[in-house]
Order: sequence, then structure tokens, then C-alpha cells
Amino acid sequence: MRSNYQFRPNSQLDTIIFDLDDTLISWAKPQIEWNKFLKPMFAKMHAYLVELGYELEQEALARGFGRNTRDAWDHARAHDHHIAVSMGGVLHRALHDLNLPADDIDIEELMRHADWQPFPGVALYPDTHAVLDELRERGYKIGLITNAFQPMWMRDTELVTYDLIDRLDARITSGDTGFMKPHPAIFWRMLGMLDSAPDRAMYVGDSPAHDVRGANETGLISVHIDPPHLDKQPQSPIEQPDYTITTLTDLLPIVERIRNC
Ligand SMILES: [Mg+2]
Repeated sequence: MRSNYQFRPNSQLDTIIFDLDDTLISWAKPQIEWNKFLKPMFAKMHAYLVELGYELEQEALARGFGRNTRDAWDHARAHDHHIAVSMGGVLHRALHDLNLPADDIDIEELMRHADWQPFPGVALYPDTHAVLDELRERGYKIGLITNAFQPMWMRDTELVTYDLIDRLDARITSGDTGFMKPHPAIFWRMLGMLDSAPDRAMYVGDSPAHDVRGANETGLISVHIDPPHLDKQPQSPIEQPDYTITTLTDLLPIVERIRNC
């Protein structure tokens, strides 16, 4: 553990916000490839569109979705404006490219038919529940921000599966917010949902470029979780965290020390 935390005389830490992927759940051992994972989703969306009377090939839908997803993320990264990619927007463009009347199709209903599922092999860290329960026991508000292009209701399926949903006071995806980490807008939105403020909040995530930088630029205490299966190191001073931890359990003494400052 390392610390360059500066005591903030007027602050009282009462809020701890987490990233999801590789922070609360581990992607160390995925069991299938993305293409195989997505295939049933395209089959279900294709079946729904066919049921509505549209003619299209399932493969064409998958290709169009893949191309538009890559283009949208490339555009977002290239311009460094951190405007979020949304799955609904990607689907709309993919349908338009297939010469379907995208404006007439209920995209949200189409996404419901996709029936998003947890990724095989992705699992909780052994201490995730215990740490969240301990933090709640100590009275902290708990939030979640994920840079995901799905709406939160889609990823809620995973939060239910991992028994996380009732352990969170608020949760958002970048797809819902319009901006993605490290943009301060998504941090401010979560702070508002939790009725908190940057000098009362800590943020924990595995990505120096998204999680740590965003927390630093918004003024939260930043914690970099650096588990053994990852090696994401800070590339610039703004990506330097206040603390680095290996497991979530490492967080508990840090929070305790800040409380006793
Ligand atoms: Mg992550």
C-alpha cells in the first residue's frame, strides 16, 4: 500500500464509489470468446426483428453492430472528449445501415429482447461482499460507476447474479450518462445521486486512465486496485492514485485511517 493522501481539514469521508469490471468482479478467467458470448444475443434480437416483419440476416445484424460499436469507441477515444458510446445509438445506426426504418423500431424493446447475461467465468473477488458489507456497516454510502455502453438496467442482470444490487445505494453506466470516465460529469452525477461531494468521497477502480484520472480531476480520493491478473500502471502524473491496493480488503484500513485523521 502506498499513500500520498493529503489531509483535507474540512472533509468527512462518507461516500465510497466503485468501478465494476475488474474492481468488484474479476475478469481474470473468462471462459468463452466475446463472439460466442454475443451470438445468442444477436439470435434473440434477430428473432424479434423478424417477428416484427423485417427481413434481415442474423449475421448482417452482428456485423453491423460490431462495426458500429468499434467506430463509436474509436471516435470517442480519438477525440478525447469522453462522450459516452450508447448501445442504443449503436443499434440504431446498425439498423439504419441495413436499410431498416431505425426510427420506427423501439430500440429499448429490442435491447430487452437481447437478454443480456453475465459473462461466463467472470466472478466476484472472494472479498467483495465482505468489504461492501463492512463499509455499509461503518455507515458509508456506496456507489457504482461503470464505463459500459449498455443502460444500467441491462447490466443489473449481472448485479443481481453476483448479489451486488442490494449492496449499492446508486449505480450508473456511461451509456446512461452521456459521458464516460474520466470525464468529471459522470462522477458529479453519481455524487448528486448519493447527496455527496468530492471532498467527502473516495473512488476505487482498476484503470489509471479512466478511474484514477477521473477521480483526481473531480477531487475525490483516488484508489487504484491493481490485482495480480492486471498490470495497468499510471502513465502520467494525473493518473497517480492517492492509494494503491491489491485486494478490496486493503481498502478497510485506509478508510479507517482517514476517519481517524
Ligand atoms: Mg474496470
